[in-house]
Amino acid sequence: MENLPPSNRSTDAGLIARYGDYLPVPKSAQWISLNEGSTPLVRLHTLCDPGRGIEVFAKVEGANPTGSFKDRGMTVALTMAVHDGSEAVICASTGNTSAAAAAYAARAGIRAFVVIPDGKIALGKLAQAMMHGAKVIQITGDFDDGMEIVKSMPTEAPVALVNSVNPFRLHGQKTAAFEIIDTLGKAPDYHFLPVGNAGNISAYWMGYTEYYEARKVNTRPAMVGCQAAGAAPFVSGRPVSNPETLATAIRIGNPQSWELAQQAREASGGWFLASDDDAILSAQKFLAHREGIFCEPASAVSVAGLITALGDESLEDGTTIVCTLTGQGLKDPDTAIAQSPEPVRVAPTLTAVRDSILD
Ligand SMILES: *Cc1c(COP(=O)(O)O)cnc(C)c1O
Repeated sequence: MENLPPSNRSTDAGLIARYGDYLPVPKSAQWISLNEGSTPLVRLHTLCDPGRGIEVFAKVEGANPTGSFKDRGMTVALTMAVHDGSEAVICASTGNTSAAAAAYAARAGIRAFVVIPDGKIALGKLAQAMMHGAKVIQITGDFDDGMEIVKSMPTEAPVALVNSVNPFRLHGQKTAAFEIIDTLGKAPDYHFLPVGNAGNISAYWMGYTEYYEARKVNTRPAMVGCQAAGAAPFVSGRPVSNPETLATAIRIGNPQSWELAQQAREASGGWFLASDDDAILSAQKFLAHREGIFCEPASAVSVAGLITALGDESLEDGTTIVCTLTGQGLKDPDTAIAQSPEPVRVAPTLTAVRDSILD
């Protein structure tokens, strides 16, 4: 038995500690972890339909350390980058990848370079990348432009690429499927999730399939990929130029994991669907108002898609459904405040506040 690195302690509750047997991380690697994962699976009471025997759960990925599922991929990607001797990482990002890369690079003591679209990134995500000390490079283009640039960067400069084209990212992210099965005691029948660059749908399918092949379950869910109408290449069947949506995390027209996501849809008997921005925002508000869960707009597209599917009878009765809520609502305060009523302003007196309550 080789000596384990000193930082890999029994108090570490991160993904590599819990699911290391399913991850391509050598025993000698020092884990770069923030105890990510173990996120809540919350029953969405208002969407369950006892009459039809339909149960709905949300996998609340905003509860990860930097507020999105990207942490699952980043713990494995950074662990392997450091293990391989990298001293810097780079990614293109709509925001959350940059926040996670910056935090995990800080944890590892190496540099992060993040390439983001100028002006089209939620405020909280930008604050995270800056605060964790990443070098933030804004390009006067969109995510797809940034992706093309960073893919070539490892041959130009000594940096490791940590976008989801890095296979370690998908290995980390597949653990969300493990957690769902470990919690439910079975696989769901349908899994709805937002699709942007399409790494996550590919990762979930990998996770469900690995547990299926390990005979932990004997079924796998139909994967339902949910896109924003203005950025829905999987619905139209071809890349989209100039993708547009308020859900900036999925404002992507040329997804990198195209083949893997198509395979996941086909092998699982799933489908892709799109919701317009109004439906996305109303699903976001519905979750916040009725379920007490504040997710970001891109996350709500999974619930917007589910609401459509519940209405058009594309789901069978007696089934269990999981929706992934990919990121925390606090990341995008501008979009939240813009769609909410303004606070009332009153004098600092008992009567004024009482009157506004009884109003
Ligand atoms: C990255 C991200 C997505 C899209 O995931 P892909 O793997 O790119 O399909 C969706 N929602 C949020 C909040 C994200 O950060």
